[in-house]
Amino acid sequence: MAKQTLSVELISMPDNMLKTIYTACKTCYSAKLPYENYLNAPDEEKMLELIKRVIGSGHYSTIEHIQLTFAIQNVSRACTHQLVRHRHMSFSQKSQRYVKEKGEFDYIIPKTIEKNPELNKKFEEFIKLTSNLYQEFIEANIPAEDARSILPNAAASSLVASLNLRELIHLANLRLCTRAQLEIRMLVGAMVNEVIKKEPWLKPYLVPKCERLGYCDEDKSCGKMPVKEELLKTVQTV
Ligand SMILES: Cc1cc2nc3c(=O)[nH]c(=O)nc-3n(C[C@H](O)[C@H](O)[C@H](O)COP(=O)(O)OP(=O)(O)OC[C@H]3O[C@@H](n4cnc5c(N)ncnc54)[C@H](O)[C@@H]3O)c2cc1C
Repeated sequence: MAKQTLSVELISMPDNMLKTIYTACKTCYSAKLPYENYLNAPDEEKMLELIKRVIGSGHYSTIEHIQLTFAIQNVSRACTHQLVRHRHMSFSQKSQRYVKEKGEFDYIIPKTIEKNPELNKKFEEFIKLTSNLYQEFIEANIPAEDARSILPNAAASSLVASLNLRELIHLANLRLCTRAQLEIRMLVGAMVNEVIKKEPWLKPYLVPKCERLGYCDEDKSCGKMPVKEELLKTVQTV
């Protein structure tokens, strides 16, 4: 067991995503019954025309019907702590209470430390030291749930995570922003790529929030988009 790298697999999504969203959208504006709308769904281009209009107007309940499930492997506990703050997601995470680490525990090393040879060495020494102490506790019959107290934020974790499409868009908008930490950006980037491979029409929604807003609303902007206040000033002077 040692240094690990992230992997993400999309393990479940509806195979009739577009038709399901179309049916939800159409039902709001149609005298027909929902199942009639489903059976009479037009071609993809026509379905997308309506769907984009409805999402564009903020009618987001229509995309809450789409549930997606990911197998997320090898992320730090620091990263999973950030991910579980998203309250419309469901999680089943490898337990540090029931699963005892054997030998050197799996860990994730932040890129900024990894690229500094001296600090990287110190980081690895710390992991070794902590692993040895953890094993000592386990061998002394300390329950894993207590021995884990000394495991760092870098300890690797894995989980199954599910969310609906509305929440995935929200997650992407927040966590693809450069203000989010690199590891969660990479995680959410990998989740988004898995979905876009299957449903390319979603690409414009699964972006940092500034790309949807047309401006940056963060305190410290990366400079990619004008900040909100600057934009407002230009509108006021026109
Ligand atoms: C760059 C960055 C830095 C951060 N720094 C910190 C930090 O320093 N400390 C810290 O504690 N957290 C921090 N967070 C976490 C942040 O405060 C949110 O908890 C997290 O991003 C989840 O976002 P959310 O609440 O919008 O989303 P979700 O929980 O995914 O909810 C989605 C949306 O549902 C609605 N919603 C959900 N629950 C409620 C509710 N109870 N009441 C009303 N509306 C609700 C809201 O509209 C919300 O935006 C940070 C997040 C980011 C992206």
